[in-house]
Amino acid sequence: MSDEKGMSEKKDMSEGKNMSDEQGMITGIDVPIVHKYNFTAGAAPTRFLAQVKKGKLTGGRCPKCSAVYIPPRGSCASCGVATEDEVELADKATVQSFTIVAIPIPNNPIQPPYIIANVVVDGANISFIHLMSECVNEDVHVGQRVQAVWKPPEEWDYAMDNIRYFKPIDEPDVPVEKIGKLPVTGWEG
Ligand SMILES: [Zn+2]
Repeated sequence: MSDEKGMSEKKDMSEGKNMSDEQGMITGIDVPIVHKYNFTAGAAPTRFLAQVKKGKLTGGRCPKCSAVYIPPRGSCASCGVATEDEVELADKATVQSFTIVAIPIPNNPIQPPYIIANVVVDGANISFIHLMSECVNEDVHVGQRVQAVWKPPEEWDYAMDNIRYFKPIDEPDVPVEKIGKLPVTGWEG
């Protein structure tokens, strides 16, 4: 019995090998997907987006631990309490981490290579993701100081892409342990 089973396994493996030899490796297939949906912002992001439409960045401050969240979700993830305090933040920020995107994304007009960074704006304690530009990709680094480049005011909407991108500014790097801990007045404020 065991010999027969062994023979059968060998036969299956050899058939599998023949199949892949004939068909070659499948490296990708096109699967077009259209996904249209509505986003219900909720109370805290609604207040945030209303300010973004005016060209201002605001965060939600926790009454217990004072952490400032942007975009605010309405509660502090650490303390589990509502963050009803709204504080205005700077549009200067520090690079916390980044990646160089080298692969084109279908329907994305931005041509690689480009930088996507986690930036922490001054006065906030957590980062959000945004595009970086007007930079030499190879020179981008953790702790680098950047500032938002906004669209013209007449194009502002309830959206974070009112900020086109962040660009490097001529300020000293922020040490890693200070990233996400700067006051709203900035690195030298
Ligand atoms: Zn808290």
